[in-house]
Amino acid sequence: TSFDQFELNRQLLNAVADLGYTEPTPIQQKTIPISLGNHDVLGIAQTGTGKTAAYLLPLLMKIKYAQGKNPRALILAPTRELAIQISKSVTDLAKYTDLRHLVAYGGLGPKTQIETLQQGVDLVVATPGRFMDLYRAGELITKDIRTLVLDEADKMMDMGFMPQIRSILEIIPTKRQNLLFSATFGGRVERLSAEFLEAPVKIEV
Ligand code: AMP
Repeated sequence: TSFDQFELNRQLLNAVADLGYTEPTPIQQKTIPISLGNHDVLGIAQTGTGKTAAYLLPLLMKIKYAQGKNPRALILAPTRELAIQISKSVTDLAKYTDLRHLVAYGGLGPKTQIETLQQGVDLVVATPGRFMDLYRAGELITKDIRTLVLDEADKMMDMGFMPQIRSILEIIPTKRQNLLFSATFGGRVERLSAEFLEAPVKIEV
């Protein structure tokens, strides 16, 4: 089994090869075809399983190349550290594409984040609070978002991000693909999944 079995383009496969990934991990094996098929995904996977590339590869395949000014995909992460780590994976996996992304988190002024948005971005990786701040400042147009990823959803619940997530769900188009990843699957994550995933395929590793 190799990455060639997936319907991914040459740009992405070459980036995967550069990273030295020869075989897809179990979560990648299961998630990539399901996500390329446009299903909602509920992924129960710990950090270290390769979950990031599992959702990024199909997402990058879908948005494919730079287009227009507004983001077409949104990845939400609970912490600045995770957002930066995801952003690094985007940079690595999208290196042979012209895709533009923004990583946005609090703790520093929004000026450079706003400048990046004004130049146009295809994908936003953000913590929920900063995403809402940029939206409320009128700097972030959400109407073209067609894919939403919630990474480390259990941690987002623990950190009290539910109200922000609810606000974000209200301002992005309802017709979209959703992917939720969590290390654990208990009460609150289960309710969150029921609330915003549509007929998800549950993938556990
Ligand atoms: P993640 O669970 O997404 O945080 O990934 C954990 C680590 O595994 C990261 O350092 C990735 O670069 C690495 N990784 C992801 N997919 C593969 C793969 N198919 N083969 C080898 N390493 C991988």
